[in-house]
Amino acid sequence: ASPPLPQNEPIHAYAPGTPERAALKAELARLSSTTVEIPMFIGGEEVRTGDLQEVRAPHRHDLLLARAHQGNTEHVKRAIEAARRAHKGWASLPWTARAAVFLKAADMLSTRLRPTMNAATMLGQSKTAYQAEIDAACELIDFLRFNVHYARQIAAEQPGSSRGSWNMQEPRPLEGFVFASTPFNFTAIAGNLPTAPALMGNTVVWKPSANALLSAHFVMNLLREAGLPDGVINLVMGPPEEVANACLAHQDLAGLHFTGSTEVFQALWRRIGDNIGNYRTYPRVVGETGGKDFVFAHKSADLEGLAVALVRGAYEYQGQKCSAASRAYVPRSLWPALKDRLVGLMEGLRMGDVADFRSFLGAVIDERAHKRLAGRIGAAKGDPSCTLIAGGGTPADVGWFVEPTLIEVRDPKHALMRDELFGPVLALWVYPDGEEEAALKQCDEGSPYGLTGAIFARDRMFIEQAASTLRFAAGNLYINDKPTGAVVGQQPFGGGRASGTNDKAGSSLNLLRWVSPRVVKETF
Ligand code: GLU
Repeated sequence: ASPPLPQNEPIHAYAPGTPERAALKAELARLSSTTVEIPMFIGGEEVRTGDLQEVRAPHRHDLLLARAHQGNTEHVKRAIEAARRAHKGWASLPWTARAAVFLKAADMLSTRLRPTMNAATMLGQSKTAYQAEIDAACELIDFLRFNVHYARQIAAEQPGSSRGSWNMQEPRPLEGFVFASTPFNFTAIAGNLPTAPALMGNTVVWKPSANALLSAHFVMNLLREAGLPDGVINLVMGPPEEVANACLAHQDLAGLHFTGSTEVFQALWRRIGDNIGNYRTYPRVVGETGGKDFVFAHKSADLEGLAVALVRGAYEYQGQKCSAASRAYVPRSLWPALKDRLVGLMEGLRMGDVADFRSFLGAVIDERAHKRLAGRIGAAKGDPSCTLIAGGGTPADVGWFVEPTLIEVRDPKHALMRDELFGPVLALWVYPDGEEEAALKQCDEGSPYGLTGAIFARDRMFIEQAASTLRFAAGNLYINDKPTGAVVGQQPFGGGRASGTNDKAGSSLNLLRWVSPRVVKETF
């Protein structure tokens, strides 16, 4: 019998008066009153260049959290060399020895280091305590534990044999190094992208997002403390293009593990394509990119469930999840009551300092994001084909705040229904009752992405019709639930079309991308 799945890490609620809340508050206070110095980490050594990037809290311009040492092409080359040197020893360990490092890291994070990782994610990425907890604690722990579970399955997978010989399959790592390029929006993804290939025996050069350096620093420290050997994961920082170019130009690039924007992923893939004759192996390209995730409501939908899903799906973490609800299709018969309910719910959403335990939203990640969102919202205000239903403010005096914003569009082909905005902006189109099929078609064809989506209906025939029309519109489809919040081991996550290669994070499918099996036949 195969071993049971691990349990998902329980979510702490941080209720007032609990020891968990006190410990988290203490870490928030400590990290708010010190300036952390963040080195690179190459071949087991901390590397300081003196070329420092300031790290500030997105919700507080006045809060300097850290200074990070920036590297250049030379440091990336050193990191690649370190990864190459470490490859032989790490790759020849029994898989259980590698697994032990990551299981230990999961245990340390579950207990001792949880407040630090959560506080760093709250302050550095402007997440509320709940949003940090489900990411930097629970999901990261789950990735580490479930990946080990799937690696065990992969190790056990063997071909059949006929009499007089036997066949053996060996899940070798890739020959070369893996370049992991991680996003700001999930500390868990920043942890998973370098560790999943490393678990399978690969060595890694890791470039974290410049907008999540504080949590990346603590992820690196966690892995070091858990006993990760020198050179297995090397953390480099610097101008993103320079770092990426140095990695992708190297003949030993064996894989790219990416989460980030569609535009950057395509640029990296192009560079790999241009260089394809120069690599020793064909690099594995695994990427999760953008989304324009839909919520499609039928007239039979439960109104309250739909309203809550729209608010949580669109505005939690300021809409900065690839999975965030960002376009909605609503039948005319539901719209008046739904509008009242949405406006009512949105009036109660508090936006502010995430460290106060009362805010529902923090700030968007940086000035660039703020400018982009303020521009799109400003344009919608002056657009006669749009109606601003709620929100629309973009106060930037204290931090990079954007109010949760709801815009009704008259044309389902409006750019707000197509473009990924990556912020707390939901576009909504009201379709005529009785024209569901045409509206579903709009939804399917309305955006180039295919990451997540949700259908709200009680009518079973409609649920089946919608799921069928929208078959390729989402890699993760939710029926009567919000399109965010996939849980490792329960909803393996990823999408197709322009959203990525759909190699489902936290699954055996993903881990198989980091092995290059050898099959040996021995004849007796
Ligand atoms: N897995 C996350 C979710 O289901 C989204 C990940 C992302 O934003 O890349 O909400």
